[in-house]
Amino acid sequence: MDKDQYDVIVIGGGASGLFVSSLLGKQGKKTLLIEHNKEFGKKILISGGGRCNFTNANSTPEDFFGKNRHFHKSALSGYKPSDFIDLLKKYKIEWYEKKDGQLFCKESAAQVRDMLVRECETNNVKLLTSCHVKSIEHDHYYHLESTKGDFKSENVVIASGGLSIAPIGATDFGHRIASQFGHKLINPEPALVPFVLEPSFSELSGVSLPAKVTTGKNEITEDLLFTHKGMSGPAILKISLYWNIGDKIKIDFTLGRVREDFLKGVGAKTILNALALSAPKRFVEYILEELNVDKDKKVNETSKKDLNKIYDFLSNFSFTPARTEGFRKAEVTRGGVDVSKISSKTMESNLQKGLFFIGEVLDVTGQLGGFNFQWAWASAYACAQGLE
Ligand SMILES: Cc1cc2nc3c(=O)[nH]c(=O)nc-3n(C[C@H](O)[C@H](O)[C@H](O)COP(=O)(O)OP(=O)(O)OC[C@H]3O[C@@H](n4cnc5c(N)ncnc54)[C@H](O)[C@@H]3O)c2cc1C
Repeated sequence: MDKDQYDVIVIGGGASGLFVSSLLGKQGKKTLLIEHNKEFGKKILISGGGRCNFTNANSTPEDFFGKNRHFHKSALSGYKPSDFIDLLKKYKIEWYEKKDGQLFCKESAAQVRDMLVRECETNNVKLLTSCHVKSIEHDHYYHLESTKGDFKSENVVIASGGLSIAPIGATDFGHRIASQFGHKLINPEPALVPFVLEPSFSELSGVSLPAKVTTGKNEITEDLLFTHKGMSGPAILKISLYWNIGDKIKIDFTLGRVREDFLKGVGAKTILNALALSAPKRFVEYILEELNVDKDKKVNETSKKDLNKIYDFLSNFSFTPARTEGFRKAEVTRGGVDVSKISSKTMESNLQKGLFFIGEVLDVTGQLGGFNFQWAWASAYACAQGLE
């Protein structure tokens, strides 16, 4: 085999590309990993607020979204959150559960990135950074044209990710290659992304409170954050996974309390202080002013009409977001390579032998909370098994 020929070339040195390369190296495959950034795993470094929410211990297939509701199940059952935890243990990387199974590094996200690079190095993967893959052609072999020369291989793994956050390396490369080899695309759209509202409620910017947020049949109860442009926070990021332009969003700030229980037992307090027991004062002052209700009146002196007005406002705050903040702010891309012509066991294309797609480039999107990395690890593992 000549020096620029490989068994497998992996394109994209992010989460899934680093992991699959390390596994292929371990199998003894001559593997080349190509990344166009100066360093590997930039998204890992900024993930989870710099602590990398590397998996979710409570992961179930229902935490993943895509046109095909079953495709992801096989890979996810073949590589579990506990398998990745075992790898962290080998490197003595400490982690903690923030909440609801969300596991974060105690120290830094760089530990996960460095661990994956080390796994590649010890398994003799050839690592190439600052190298942009421009095109791929296939005859008997795959021929790659890159900014650092041409390469040849029997198999190619596309691990080039989705479209979110172009300044740290995101490209549509994987989508273009999929189309070139006959795959369809499910329209790639920003997800886990803040909403832009018009008007924006910018007066409330910085206010955070729990809320039940609904769109269609999907419902999330979590914290919501008002921003300068509209709304963010876990509740909004999560619901954005299911939202399409033109869809209504309904917010219940009473968290499902029935009218009869609303402000029960706080009759002697002012309406402001009573409402401020479960919501930030700034928010309460804002809505009482909007509704033209005297904030200093005691609850039991406030008219039934005004109390109903407040309840109706808080329990059924409905609006249609103008748009999302787009790929610039989205944590992930929803949509991507249609999985109908991809093997769910091996991630290999059914249309083009030796061509594999893993990670976020595929039409599989995890919910907020460590699920997207779990998909990166699990799809990479399935791919490596397929190439064994
Ligand atoms: C701010 C932020 C925080 C996040 N936090 C979390 C979290 O805590 N938990 C979680 O589960 N998920 C999180 N995610 C999502 C998670 O980072 C991604 O789903 C995951 O990284 C996808 O892995 P991947 O390997 O498919 O793609 P990526 O990790 O994006 O890797 C793709 C790589 O391909 C490279 N590339 C692209 N085109 C080319 C080309 N033509 N030639 C060479 N290289 C190329 C890119 O530079 C990139 O390094 C977060 C995302 C963002 C943006």
